[in-house]
Amino acid sequence: MAHPNAGPDGDRPVRLGIFGGTFDPPHIGHVSVTRALQESGAVDEILWIPARVPPHKPLRRPAAPEVRMEMARAAIEGSARQKVSDIELSREGPSYTVDTLRTLRAGYPEATLVLIMGSDQFVDLAAWHEADEVVRLAEVCVLPRGTVDLPAVVPPLEVVWSAAQVSPVDVSSSEVRRLVREGHPYRHLVPRRVADVIEREVLYLA
Ligand code: ATP
Repeated sequence: MAHPNAGPDGDRPVRLGIFGGTFDPPHIGHVSVTRALQESGAVDEILWIPARVPPHKPLRRPAAPEVRMEMARAAIEGSARQKVSDIELSREGPSYTVDTLRTLRAGYPEATLVLIMGSDQFVDLAAWHEADEVVRLAEVCVLPRGTVDLPAVVPPLEVVWSAAQVSPVDVSSSEVRRLVREGHPYRHLVPRRVADVIEREVLYLA
């Protein structure tokens, strides 16, 4: 009998994609790359994990955690085997990926953890808190983004990583926020229900 944690083939562990971000707001880039990763078999399931943003850190105050959760849930609507987790928003103190991975390792003992990140994040991986432990606990799947030439930027770590076989999607949350603020059309860049939340909560105008 297949193990309850087995992947679709029944004979290999589930590959659990871990997709952290601010998701302020989630956009079609997030949605299309996660679906493409599942379709290609790079991961079987995906957990979107909205991050806590330390109040002192950003130049700009992000949307409230519960609103970012709601938008992330809206973004995954219709995507099978994707969930949103409040594991970082509900934890006190700074959100370190290593702590998230330790918790997930305990909750999914049989799964292969696959940390999904854009190439903009991958270049800095060696500087992350307990980076050695992060890459011991998870493989890394790197999404193409901008002009970063992947093989040239592999961080100086013993990391099991792969370049995601997905088409780059040139959109960012900051671009969406700018369009909203300047009164330009932006709804084509976000799932419809995310746009509904942006309008209901009057986000990004200030
Ligand atoms: P911002 O513009 O505010 O910096 P963002 O668009 O990068 O936001 P995040 O929520 O920070 O959005 O992104 C979460 C993860 O998704 C990060 O690893 C980021 O690199 C990746 N990512 C975001 N947009 C894209 C995209 N268009 N293509 C590939 N990866 C992306």
